[in-house]
Amino acid sequence: MALHVMNEANRCLGCKVPQCQKGCPIKTPIPEVIKLLKDNKLDEAGRMLFENNPLTTVCSIVCNHEKQCEGHCVLGIKGAPVHFSTIENYISSTYASKMVQGPHPSNGKKVAIVGSGPAGITIAILMARYGYDVTIFEGRDQIGGVLRYGIPEFRLPKSVIDDIQYRHLEMKKIKIRPNTRIGHAITVDDLFRDGYKAVFIGTGVWQPNALHIKGESFGHVHFGIDYLNNPDSYKLGEKVVVIGAGNAAMDVARTALRKGTRELTCFSLTKKVAASDYEFSYAKLEGVEFEYNKKPVEITDDGVIFKDVLEDENGNLTEVEGSEKLYPANSVIISISQGPRNTIAATTEGLDTNNRGLLIADETGKTTRPGIFASGDAVNGARTVVEAVAHSKVVAEEMHRYIQGLED
Ligand SMILES: Cc1cc2nc3c(=O)[nH]c(=O)nc-3n(C[C@H](O)[C@H](O)[C@H](O)COP(=O)(O)OP(=O)(O)OC[C@H]3O[C@@H](n4cnc5c(N)ncnc54)[C@H](O)[C@@H]3O)c2cc1C
Ligand code: SF4
Repeated sequence: MALHVMNEANRCLGCKVPQCQKGCPIKTPIPEVIKLLKDNKLDEAGRMLFENNPLTTVCSIVCNHEKQCEGHCVLGIKGAPVHFSTIENYISSTYASKMVQGPHPSNGKKVAIVGSGPAGITIAILMARYGYDVTIFEGRDQIGGVLRYGIPEFRLPKSVIDDIQYRHLEMKKIKIRPNTRIGHAITVDDLFRDGYKAVFIGTGVWQPNALHIKGESFGHVHFGIDYLNNPDSYKLGEKVVVIGAGNAAMDVARTALRKGTRELTCFSLTKKVAASDYEFSYAKLEGVEFEYNKKPVEITDDGVIFKDVLEDENGNLTEVEGSEKLYPANSVIISISQGPRNTIAATTEGLDTNNRGLLIADETGKTTRPGIFASGDAVNGARTVVEAVAHSKVVAEEMHRYIQGLED
C-alpha cells in the first residue's frame, strides 16, 4: 500500500495551476499535500487535509473521483491520472488515529444542529472550532445520515463514521441527542427558547419518490432508501427487479446480490444510466443485468410490466404503444431518488420551502427566518457528500458572523 501510494505521489508533476484542484468541489490543495507526503511530513499533510475538509477520509472513499480531481489531472490526458483518492485515503486514515485534541476554548454560546449527515457533522465540527457549545439533534439512533443508513458497508465501512464520532464530536465535547426528531416533541422554537443562538438544519432528503403506478403498495414492493436502511429485515427472493439506475440503485442492487438474490436487473428509462461509471462497472462485474429505455407502467404479483420508450439524440422520450411486457420478479425495489420530509418547515413559522419542498436558503445558508441556517441535501436536493461539506463550510462561517453580530 505505502509503496503504491508513494509511486502515485512521485508521479505528480506539482503543477503551478493544478487542474486536479479545479476539479475538486472543496478545492483540496492536492499538490501541496502530495509535496508534504514526499517530504516525509505525513502529519502536516493530514492536518492540511482535515483543516480543509473534516470529512476527508469519507471523501477519499465515496467521491466521484473520476469526474473530480482525477478526472481533471493533466496526466489523465495521455495516460493514467495521479490517483489522489488513494493518497488522500492513506494520509487521512493514518493521521486520523493521531487526532487526540480536546475541546477548543469555549465562547459560552450554544448552537443547535439538526441532522448528523455530512452537512450537520461539518457544521458541528467547524462551530466547535470557533468555541461554540454544540448540540446535535439526530432523529435516528446513530449519527452519519446517508453515510451510515444509505451507503453500504462494503463501500464505506461504518468504522470510518465511528471514528469521526469519537475524534471530532465526542473528544470535542459536542453533545449528541440521538432518537430526537425535531419538529415533533421539540420544535425549532423550543431550541431558541432554551438559549441556542442559532439553529442549523441539515435534515437531507429521506422521502422516497414514488412512481404512482398501480401495484406500488404490494407486499413485495419496496423503496431503495428504505431497503438500504436495514437490508437484513427484507426477504427479497431469488429474482429482483430494481427500477432506477442511479448510484443509489447500484447500492441497492449490489447489496441484494450480497444478501442472496441470484438474478437482479436494473431498469433505466434512458439509454445512459445515471450512476457513475465506477459504480456502474462494479455492478456489472458483480452480475447486475441492465435493461434500457423501459418505463414501468404497472406492478403485478408476478413482476413489473414495462413499456419500451424511444429516445432520440436530444434525449426526448416517446413511449411505444403496445410494447408492454411483464418482467417476472419475486421482489421489486423502486430507487428513483428522494425528496424532503417537511416536518420542520411545517412546525416553524417563517421557514419557507420551494415548490419541491426544499428549504429556501441563500448561498451562505441563511433561510427565510433569521437565526436559522441550512445546507446539504435539505436545500439542494439529492447531491453528494463533498457538495454538502463544501456548502457547509461557507454556512458555518456565516452562522458565526451572525451570532457575533459581524454581518455587513
Ligand atoms: C444510497 C445512497 C448512496 C449515495 N452514495 C454517494 C456516494 O457514493 N458519494 C457521494 O458523494 N454521495 C452519495 N450519496 C449522496 C450523499 O450521501 C448525500 O448527498 C449526503 O449524505 C447529504 O448530506 P446531508 O447532511 O445533507 O443529509 P443526510 O446524509 O441525509 O443526513 C440528514 C440527517 O438528518 C437526520 N434528520 C432528518 N430529519 C430530522 C429531524 N426532523 N430531526 C433530527 N434529525 C433529522 C437524518 O436522520 C439524517 O441523519 C448517496 C446517497 C444515497 C441515498
Ligand atoms: S493535475 Fe495531476 S500532476 Fe498536476 S498537481 Fe494535480 S495531481 Fe499532480
